[in-house]
Amino acid sequence: MITQGRTRPGVYRESAEVCVIGSGAGGAVVAAELAAAGREVVLLEQGGYHTPNDFDQREEHMLPMLFENAGMSTTEDGAVGILHGRCVGGSTVHNLAYCFRAPAPILALWEEKHEVRDLASLQDSFERVERALGVQRIIPEEVNLLNRKLQLGAERLGYHGLVAKHNRIGCVRSGFCILGCAYGSKQSMLVTYIPRADRAGARIWADCRADRIEASAPGRRRVVATLLDARGRAHGEMEVEASVVVCCAGAIATPLLLEASGLGNSSGQRGRNLHLHPTVIAGGIFEEPLHSYYGIPQSYYIDEFIDLEHDPRSGHILMPIAGFPVLTASTLPGFGRELFGYLRDLPRLGGLLALLHDQSSGSVERGSGDRPRIRYRLTDEDRHELMRGLQHTVEVLWASGAEQVIVAYAKDPLVLRPEDGTAEIKQRGVREGAIPLTSTHPQSTCRMGGDGKTSVVNSWGELHDTQGIFVADMSVFPTSLGAPPQITTAALADRTAQHILQRWPELRT
Ligand SMILES: Cc1cc2nc3c(=O)[nH]c(=O)nc-3n(C[C@H](O)[C@H](O)[C@H](O)COP(=O)(O)OP(=O)(O)OC[C@H]3O[C@@H](n4cnc5c(N)ncnc54)[C@H](O)[C@@H]3O)c2cc1C
Repeated sequence: MITQGRTRPGVYRESAEVCVIGSGAGGAVVAAELAAAGREVVLLEQGGYHTPNDFDQREEHMLPMLFENAGMSTTEDGAVGILHGRCVGGSTVHNLAYCFRAPAPILALWEEKHEVRDLASLQDSFERVERALGVQRIIPEEVNLLNRKLQLGAERLGYHGLVAKHNRIGCVRSGFCILGCAYGSKQSMLVTYIPRADRAGARIWADCRADRIEASAPGRRRVVATLLDARGRAHGEMEVEASVVVCCAGAIATPLLLEASGLGNSSGQRGRNLHLHPTVIAGGIFEEPLHSYYGIPQSYYIDEFIDLEHDPRSGHILMPIAGFPVLTASTLPGFGRELFGYLRDLPRLGGLLALLHDQSSGSVERGSGDRPRIRYRLTDEDRHELMRGLQHTVEVLWASGAEQVIVAYAKDPLVLRPEDGTAEIKQRGVREGAIPLTSTHPQSTCRMGGDGKTSVVNSWGELHDTQGIFVADMSVFPTSLGAPPQITTAALADRTAQHILQRWPELRT
């Protein structure tokens, strides 16, 4: 049963075998797998329950409905914008549906350097998750105009790329994926694992924010939560008694929840090692209108500049990016007339972003009020790598036929023509605050590892310092992944769920 907390002010008590917190790529999988195996599950999600019928493709409605902080979250210094979900289904509801498994060299690094055990079992989880999400290769007819142009440009330059896999079935190619799929084609958690968890008897509470976990005795945990009204204001209370708690609130909220609970910090690593996969964007103006969102917005992917076999710790990938007016405006320079001048060309604008496989790291902790304090600094090497990435985006846009390329430096933006080259980008570089950086993949803040002195959770996601409390979301990645993360997050969550089932009923005590 799915209960909308916004319509149910009051004080509630639940008791279950397992309480799952957060309903995105990690939480939905854990809840469905455990409920389907007969465990009694309560799932708490702070965001609202919205269905494809509610997705009206308008940014002013969808950003507040589906995104944390209406998509306006940033690092403490404002240098990196962070987009992540706040709704039943989490970030999978508005993501762009690229599907990649964790690259083999990254899994090898996690095993060798971070002593994560038995990652071979992840292969079964990948298969189960991909089946459940309908993962398939994007067919050539589905590659939209912008992606086709960029593919041609990359091929002209001799750069390697590929048409990716995705989790859409019966896609009508409206291109509004990032505002929620109104057609129910994107196989997000909202239309796959959440209904499965519901059918299997999980009790799902939307608009219910977990505030802390009390771990008074083994086998007896209590989650203290707040029921929220439609505007996010407290209007009720919830307490869940459970033997096992699985935190799946995402890499920003999970360490905050553990911090509020005084848990998970015996290594001093809780909230540390934040990787962001920061991106920098160049916008190309083409001669003819592209309406670059139309079709499947991201299908092609350039991996020429990442070679994980030889160096699993650095590199960058290039991905097309299409924008609607509000999100595009937030990455373009200027205000008023200047900004309007750029936005007038929106139909002819197509973007390419460079996404960094970052070594740089940051931290998440509780700030003043209810705002998290998110800190992140690029290392000099990563600044250089992102600068190279930005140069590559510009080169590919030109080779794809763009007449001009806009690089949105905050002061004095660059508008480049092919004859200008990219020397100016090298000179200016990529520095926090000087050019917009965006992250859609915060990760690693409760990293997994075999050594309790350097990691927060063990190889199956259980806190090193507290039995029966698990983490199953993107926070457990031991390092930056270097690839789109939803499938790896879901597969690791599936593996954690199988582990909990194997240890049942021991975990009750
Ligand atoms: C714009 C965008 C595009 C993306 N595109 C892709 C893509 O193409 N391919 C890909 O692989 N990945 C993509 N991603 C990333 C992918 O969606 C995430 O990797 C994945 O969803 C992370 O799963 P998660 O479970 O860690 O967190 P989420 O899916 O973000 O779920 C966390 C949930 O926990 C809830 N929560 C937080 N705090 C609390 C609390 N205290 N109490 C209760 N609930 C709480 C949140 O509201 C949220 O719903 C994209 C992300 C974004 C933002």
